[in-house]
Amino acid sequence: MGLFDRKICNICGSKIGLFGNRKLQDGNLCKNCASKLSPWFSDRRSSTVDEIRAQLEYREKNQQLVNAFNITRIMGGEEGRVLLDEGAGMFMVSTGSSAKAGNPDVLKFSQITGCEVVIEEEEDEIMREVKDSEGKTTQESYNPPRFNYSYDFDVIIYVNTPYFNEMKFQINSDTVEIEGTKEGGSTPIKLDSISTKKDLVDTILKAAADTKKRNAEYLKYETMANEIKDTLLELRDKSLAEEEILNESN
Ligand SMILES: [Zn+2]
Repeated sequence: MGLFDRKICNICGSKIGLFGNRKLQDGNLCKNCASKLSPWFSDRRSSTVDEIRAQLEYREKNQQLVNAFNITRIMGGEEGRVLLDEGAGMFMVSTGSSAKAGNPDVLKFSQITGCEVVIEEEEDEIMREVKDSEGKTTQESYNPPRFNYSYDFDVIIYVNTPYFNEMKFQINSDTVEIEGTKEGGSTPIKLDSISTKKDLVDTILKAAADTKKRNAEYLKYETMANEIKDTLLELRDKSLAEEEILNESN
């Protein structure tokens, strides 16, 4: 009993090391067995030993699907990509260094329930240093204010599986940074149209948006993300229609 009372993994039976325990609803799981679970699975604490055992059996069968997976098309960026086996009507999401690393879950197109592109934006004002009348250095806004915008591009695929319902991954490896200034605007700013603070803010935001649209990196990842979404939804619709025809002819 006490501090040195080592727990036993309910799946493989091995002794669990200090800090190595992964608690289940009705038992314990070792680090090694936990690493074999799906990377998209997040309900471990509320899962029973039997549920985990069933998932690990599914994961072993999945490895065979990965080995047999014939990549016909790859979409996405350096960080996360979607691999298609169009002949088998299946896809997987790979976030590892090599396409098939880590036993990625192989799913049917018909298991897709939705897909979404999320572009995460962060805004930081760029300040300049000025000396006041007493010679002290302070920071102040540029006129008009300048901003550094940073963007990450995420794709969320919603799926129907017993173990997880969402696959969210980022496709870009480096955050895309864009400086937004009024010079970036494609439409010349008419100073006489700016009479209130709100006019000024609207003008700057519009200029920043125009800068964004012309930034090659931004466009590249936005196009990639939308390609994944449009292609997956199209393949899903096609395979559901085919399944319906099969069901009707039976
Ligand atoms: Zn174990």
